Amino acid sequence: MTDTDIIAIYGSTDKYNFHSHTQFCDGRVDMEVMTRAAIDAGMQHWGFSPHSPVPFESPCNMYAGDVETYLSEVERLKGIYGDRISLYASMEIDYLGDNWGAATPYFRNLPLDYRIGSVHFVPSDKGYVDVDGSFESFKVKMAEYFSNDIRHVVNLFYHQSMAMVEAGGFDIIGHLDKIGHNASLFRPGIEDEDWYCRLVNDLIDLVIEKDIIAEINTKTYVSAGRFFPSLRYWQRLADAGVKMVVNSDAHYPERVNLGRDAAFALLKTDNSL
Ligand SMILES: [Zn+2]
Ligand SMILES: [Zn+2]
Repeated sequence: MTDTDIIAIYGSTDKYNFHSHTQFCDGRVDMEVMTRAAIDAGMQHWGFSPHSPVPFESPCNMYAGDVETYLSEVERLKGIYGDRISLYASMEIDYLGDNWGAATPYFRNLPLDYRIGSVHFVPSDKGYVDVDGSFESFKVKMAEYFSNDIRHVVNLFYHQSMAMVEAGGFDIIGHLDKIGHNASLFRPGIEDEDWYCRLVNDLIDLVIEKDIIAEINTKTYVSAGRFFPSLRYWQRLADAGVKMVVNSDAHYPERVNLGRDAAFALLKTDNSL
């Protein structure tokens, strides 16, 4: 599957979702249950995208030793459900600097249909810290690792994201301003601050320049009323001709389509608004 195939699918009337999590990482059900839920929801294309292995212990990420089993499970499910839904083997690959990310040989050599590049971890003096979890855990980490310096953490997130886009090796950038969720709970209004907007816009500049597909992630639309990226950036993405796919980032079978219809009500299949 190439970027052209992804674009053809989102440009069609086919129902798709390219971002989901199951038993190999922090998803709540196994791939077969998720596949059946996707079929029941009328999906014609479904991408599995477990959180990639990382070189340290992380409860949310898959083990490198499970990758082969994961890939063969996709093949097994294709054999059973392939006449009802097109299934794809992907991965949401964490970027951890020059030595770990979609651009590195290990990930480049995996037989994946497409790759999502995402930042969930930022560096600290004591190693990489997951800043993507619940706000409760974010607050604890802000105190423990970053002396509650939210601007520093936001800077780290966008600099990691820009370095990831520069390095390349992936097709879709996942939830490109995800830090905005926890950051704005930590400091309400932070996403309206000029320096913050500049960071998002700098990242978007790079996404445009590198011609990467941007994801509209709908995972927290129902719970928190927001998309990633924030709706305020969609017009700019659309005007620049950025290709956008709408993904639910489902971790639960009842959420395979959660928030997607709300996004499509705003976004036409040709990515205009
Ligand atoms: Zn993610
Ligand atoms: Zn995800």
